[in-house]
Amino acid sequence: MAKVAIIGAGFAGQTAALYLGDALGAEHEITVINRLKDFSYVPSWVWVGIGRMPVEKTLFPLKPVYDRFGVRFVHGRATEVRVDERAVVVERDGSGTTTVAYDHLIVATGPRLDFEGTEGLGPEAGYSQSICTGPHAVRARDAYLEEVARMEKGERRRFVIGTGHPGATCQGAAFEYITNVHKDLVRRGVRDKADLLWLSNEQALGDFGVRGVSVRRKGRTLTSEDFITAVFKEYGIGSQVRTGVLGLTEDTIAWEDFEGQKGETGFDFSMLIPRFLGQPLAFTGKDGEDVSADILAPNGLVKVDATYGLPYDELIKQPDAWPRVYQNPAHPEIFAAGIAFAPPGPISVPHTTPNGTAIAAAPPRTGMVSGIIGRVVALNVIDLVKTGIMTHGERMTEMYAACIASMGDSLWDGSAAVIMIYPVVPDHQRYPNDEGRDLFVTHMEMGLAGAWMKRMIQTTFMHKLRGRPGWRFIPE
Ligand SMILES: Cc1cc2nc3c(=O)[nH]c(=O)nc-3n(C[C@H](O)[C@H](O)[C@H](O)COP(=O)(O)OP(=O)(O)OC[C@H]3O[C@@H](n4cnc5c(N)ncnc54)[C@H](O)[C@@H]3O)c2cc1C
Repeated sequence: MAKVAIIGAGFAGQTAALYLGDALGAEHEITVINRLKDFSYVPSWVWVGIGRMPVEKTLFPLKPVYDRFGVRFVHGRATEVRVDERAVVVERDGSGTTTVAYDHLIVATGPRLDFEGTEGLGPEAGYSQSICTGPHAVRARDAYLEEVARMEKGERRRFVIGTGHPGATCQGAAFEYITNVHKDLVRRGVRDKADLLWLSNEQALGDFGVRGVSVRRKGRTLTSEDFITAVFKEYGIGSQVRTGVLGLTEDTIAWEDFEGQKGETGFDFSMLIPRFLGQPLAFTGKDGEDVSADILAPNGLVKVDATYGLPYDELIKQPDAWPRVYQNPAHPEIFAAGIAFAPPGPISVPHTTPNGTAIAAAPPRTGMVSGIIGRVVALNVIDLVKTGIMTHGERMTEMYAACIASMGDSLWDGSAAVIMIYPVVPDHQRYPNDEGRDLFVTHMEMGLAGAWMKRMIQTTFMHKLRGRPGWRFIPE
């Protein structure tokens, strides 16, 4: 009997758990270890953060799903992986520790939110809000509604939304938040009392950490920069890109821009995405020695079958530098999926200021990308258990992604930007244009239909990730 352990039940781990449970659950031991007892549908926290959706609507309990799929659930926090013993040590809430043995391990722990990486950042020890966890989104909502109440009394308030570290990623989530804040303030009749500023480490508006998107329309090239510039103009949102946030005080954000100029921006409310690092997880050898250098990149993410260390100019010429099977070379029994795997470098052009500050948007790994990687890894583990030979693989230079960015949740006057992008990471060998992408497939649209799609996606994804009938036919 094979033993497969999955740490983390987000988009990547949950997708992997369903495929593994379905294929092997009856005869083999599949175990999911997750800190929370519920699955969290992260994308809808954008709406939680403005009070348009209760957080409970973004959650469902994991155990009943696993019971149907023959998957064992351990509710707790994995703290250590004993690589020689092939066992994961788990701290269970209030009931001590336990160990989970494995033949194959999938690390799908998502990001550690590195608020400590920027002084004064974050809702717990700092001055900014976050929508990156359910409790953070609830807290952001409460702070936001306080601002609304002040504006209703006639006060003018300043909102700054974007990225909170020069190396942050996930600009898409912050973009959704600022546009939803705009729409919500309009709905509440206080938009004229608010100044909204987009502050980000992107090279240009609409970069989103993927080097932007270009599409051909009626013989013309339209870029995501044109697109987002037009949206911000229509919504009256100011913007400052090419800027790395260095620190916050109670009411001021200190920053440095691409040219090395330093400055400060005042705020009443800010929501800034922190840098993402790997979750703290110790990897130890047979005498308890630290072997994490074999497994983790310096940012704490799991090293896989990528080519690391290439300068950016080389990396963009080598699509095969991006991993295909997400397997750790030193320990082939360990895989990583979703945000937990270490990419070989950025997708957007990195920049270093004259002062030596690296301002480089890290590559985003969205829910869809995380789910696809979860599936690829699960199918390969199934192969290994059944035949010993892996037959699946998909690099981010071969991967298609659809992204629907909510710009107002209302099904009557809401909107969303629908962005289809192929491949996610440009491949200049197959697509020798400036973008390195298939300009026929890559596409951008905006409109009310997108708001309906965004809502439908939550329903269909929650259906899929609950493993309900037809789950396999709903693509990641
Ligand atoms: C506000 C917001 C909006 C977003 N909107 C979109 C969107 O519209 N579309 C899109 O495609 N993507 C979106 N994303 C990105 C998407 O949410 C992520 O790509 C996705 O959640 C990554 O999945 P994951 O499985 O890698 O990690 P996660 O979703 O972070 O899941 C990791 C899981 O592992 C658990 N875990 C971590 N450490 C341990 C441990 N030591 N022991 C046990 N369990 C552990 C965590 O509790 C968590 O349940 C958004 C992100 C944010 C923050």
